[in-house]
Amino acid sequence: MKYTSRQMEAHKRVALVAHDHMKADLIDWVSSRAEQLKLHHLYATGTTGSLLGREAGLPINCLFSGPMGGDQQLGALIAEGKIDVLIFFWDPLNAVPHDPDVKALLRLAAVWNIPVATNRATADFLMDSPHMSESVTISVPDYQGYLAERTKK
Ligand code: PGA
Repeated sequence: MKYTSRQMEAHKRVALVAHDHMKADLIDWVSSRAEQLKLHHLYATGTTGSLLGREAGLPINCLFSGPMGGDQQLGALIAEGKIDVLIFFWDPLNAVPHDPDVKALLRLAAVWNIPVATNRATADFLMDSPHMSESVTISVPDYQGYLAERTKK
């Protein structure tokens, strides 16, 4: 795979997702980080976003609920370069019906090289990084090159 780069602005597009047993933790974390998070553009799956909007009082772009397609919507936004950071408190102790979607979301976040936090400690490390408040260049797959390679005669 060849790589190119893309620019992340200082104001990041941050996606927030929590599985049901992790929602209280995410609400608590977001509330503790509200001053920083309100400087960014926030996205969330449906239930997570509705709860965060109500409990943490932050404006959130709500997608569909995860089991109804929200994880896939987020994955598509990541592939399109429209999400910069994923904070995903997934549940390591309970199975979810949309496990394939969860795996797909994490896979696309890896493909498109965005920072991902899957627990509170990593979310704290991420938020304390200077990159959260400055413009950053990240390496991403060279999609045009990839397509050209696959379609060459
Ligand atoms: P939810 O979806 O925010 O609608 O609960 C999250 C998920 O389980 O992917």
